Amino acid sequence: MTEITAPVPPTRQSPASMIDPFGRHVSYLRVSVTDRCDFRCVYCMSEHMTFLPKKDLLSLEELDRLCSAFVAKGVQKLRITGGEPLVRKNILWLFQRLGRHLETGALEELTLTTNGSQLPKYAADLKAAGVRRINVSLDTLDEAKFRAVTRWGELGAVMKGLDAADKAGLAVKINAVALKGVNEDEIEDLLRFAHGRGYDLTLIETMPLGDIDGDRTDQYLPLSVVRGRLLDRFSMDDIPYKTGGPARYVRIKETGGRLGFITPMTHNFCESCNRVRLTCTGTLYMCLGQDDAADLRGPLRASADDALLSAAIDAAISRKPKGHDFVIDRRTKRPAVQRHMSVTGG
Ligand code: SAM
Ligand code: SF4
Repeated sequence: MTEITAPVPPTRQSPASMIDPFGRHVSYLRVSVTDRCDFRCVYCMSEHMTFLPKKDLLSLEELDRLCSAFVAKGVQKLRITGGEPLVRKNILWLFQRLGRHLETGALEELTLTTNGSQLPKYAADLKAAGVRRINVSLDTLDEAKFRAVTRWGELGAVMKGLDAADKAGLAVKINAVALKGVNEDEIEDLLRFAHGRGYDLTLIETMPLGDIDGDRTDQYLPLSVVRGRLLDRFSMDDIPYKTGGPARYVRIKETGGRLGFITPMTHNFCESCNRVRLTCTGTLYMCLGQDDAADLRGPLRASADDALLSAAIDAAISRKPKGHDFVIDRRTKRPAVQRHMSVTGG
């Protein structure tokens, strides 16, 4: 069966476009609006994290200006992430401001990655601001395991968040990090849960980003293994469905739902990378797994017009590296990069 069911309209040719040295169009910006979070997931952070000093944070007005500069340069998809984006004070204001680019058609999609805990408060307003699809991270359906994985989270709060998203009419994709010995026996349950509620499910391999309290070798579960196990129970058809991110999708015959695989470890997807990532302090990372970065806060604050900023963005894109090279094994004790996913934005 041939499926072309992407929820976003086909990519228009933007009048402006950013092209990197490898010919890849950069059309997708992920913005970490805060590195702080109300959870402490074991694969993401250590329990006693040192967060960025509040004084270094860009204001929401500055984030709006930066995002808008990227939209003017051809970014068509904007994902707000973190840390937990919905714990940032007045975050709704940013969504409402950015919504104007959806109205003009300059932006195709404004979306969000969240742990779901704050959705009861925000789901309806996010929808009204123009958000149509959200990613909600959920690694387990077992309350005790949920507490163990997130350290500070409550499964019940996320379930209420999902109910609120449904009620608001937001399309949901569940993201689950595959964790050895933690949720590997639950992948089928997660699949049935997600598809039963009409959600897509995407599985993610854990990546070596930042120091955590434990050893990542104990957590890492290759998705090739998960896929093999699922094939004992389910039939999968590869489908060309794309959401702009790195997941490769299959259709599960038995449930009718979509399952995505994000495999930064076992199958590098850098050749089709269309993304750059902005931190809440205005640092632009051209690759999740490399240290090279560009400071955009300086040029942003140096003048009221965007000429310096635009030149700094061009210079950064011209340095976008070919890709990352992640390793998780017993001999490689250090993370690939020191910064956590919550800083760079997932
Ligand atoms: N707090 C929000 C959430 O959890 O969805 C947004 C930020 S979080 C950093 C974004 C995504 O990154 C989540 O799906 C999370 O599971 C994933 N993530 C965090 N650290 C990771 C790591 N080291 N390897 C792989 N995925 C990771
Ligand atoms: Fe917070 Fe998301 Fe990281 Fe969990 S994965 S600690 S919810 S930022």
